[in-house]
Amino acid sequence: MKPFTYARPSSAAEAIGAFSAAGAGARYIAGGTSLYDLMKLDIERPQHLIDVTGIAGLDRVETAGDQLRFGALVPMSVAAGDETLLRDYPLLAEALWKAASQQLRNMATVGGNLFQRTRCMYFRNGNGNLSTVGAAPCNKREPGAGCAAIGGLDRGQAVLGQSASCNAVSPGDWPVALTAMDAAVELLGPDGPRTAPVAGLYRLPGATPHLEFALKPGEIVTAITVPKTPAGRRSTYHKIRDRESYAFALASAAVALEMEGDRVASARIALGGVATRPWRASAAERMLVGRRIDADSSMEAGRAALAGARAGRHNGFKIELAARTVADALLIAARRTA
Ligand SMILES: Cc1cc2nc3c(=O)[nH]c(=O)nc-3n(C[C@H](O)[C@H](O)[C@H](O)COP(=O)(O)OP(=O)(O)OC[C@H]3O[C@@H](n4cnc5c(N)ncnc54)[C@H](O)[C@@H]3O)c2cc1C
Repeated sequence: MKPFTYARPSSAAEAIGAFSAAGAGARYIAGGTSLYDLMKLDIERPQHLIDVTGIAGLDRVETAGDQLRFGALVPMSVAAGDETLLRDYPLLAEALWKAASQQLRNMATVGGNLFQRTRCMYFRNGNGNLSTVGAAPCNKREPGAGCAAIGGLDRGQAVLGQSASCNAVSPGDWPVALTAMDAAVELLGPDGPRTAPVAGLYRLPGATPHLEFALKPGEIVTAITVPKTPAGRRSTYHKIRDRESYAFALASAAVALEMEGDRVASARIALGGVATRPWRASAAERMLVGRRIDADSSMEAGRAALAGARAGRHNGFKIELAARTVADALLIAARRTA
């Protein structure tokens, strides 16, 4: 690990000031469950850590009014156990408690979760210490180096949104559920405050996979907001993985439905585990409007969600798995009462 300085400011303005003063090499840190991990692997090498956990007022879940508002420092475990989420927005609670382990969820923040980096083993194996693949090139880690995952051991890699430079999966569960719910982030930076859709935070890899997030330098997320909708009650986050807990998604689907009688008035569907960013399945959403949710319509929607998918050497199974995950999620959500 390389030496770094550490500061723990007590306000967002102070944190942004510290970031600007530190210049290149500064990074914010919250729970540290992602960033410290990557520092130990010698993939992230920040020279200045600015710990945001001392900032007051960012640790509350607010559910009054027409939106849900999560302060960026709310621990994942706290949001996962919030009674409004459990009752009215099960997809949000499920996306959180199906992620990582209880210990990690106690440390990790809902803001930091948005910016965790890919679990692609070629990306994480910069120094060749992880024995499975040895040291191998990665465009995300070292722009222009090449991508060993393309044509390599790609069982876990993306089938949607990949480019000739990168097929690494966007790993988070929470951003997938937030994307389905049209969530937004409140940001504060050197140029002042702004809001942005969560979906817009994630870049496709294209020719620049090292540029992952659409944040301006020095910007900090202060809160995440989710517009309230009756679709929240008929919702689920369905996550399929190699083992039933403490594993990243092979495929996941965040689904929320608004019904008129037994017909779909509107559907929200986003996919995780299969794409290079949280993946909204708009065509599948549209084709369900006016339909009943049954075995046929849900499977049709699942296939529509994966329509543009392209498999590599070992990950073709993900296309069928994800289609079925969407179908199952729709059936689960439809059974829930509004
Ligand atoms: C073994 C293991 C298993 C896991 N399994 C899962 C899983 O199944 N599903 C899943 O979704 N996640 C999983 N995770 C990831 C975990 O959820 C994330 O590490 C965690 O959410 C990151 O939050 P943090 O507060 O610790 O972020 P940190 O590590 O502190 O920061 C992560 C990144 O976010 C930036 N950041 C932090 N806060 C802010 C802010 N307020 N504004 C701007 N930038 C900020 C930091 O600069 C850094 O780049 C797993 C992690 C581990 C170690």
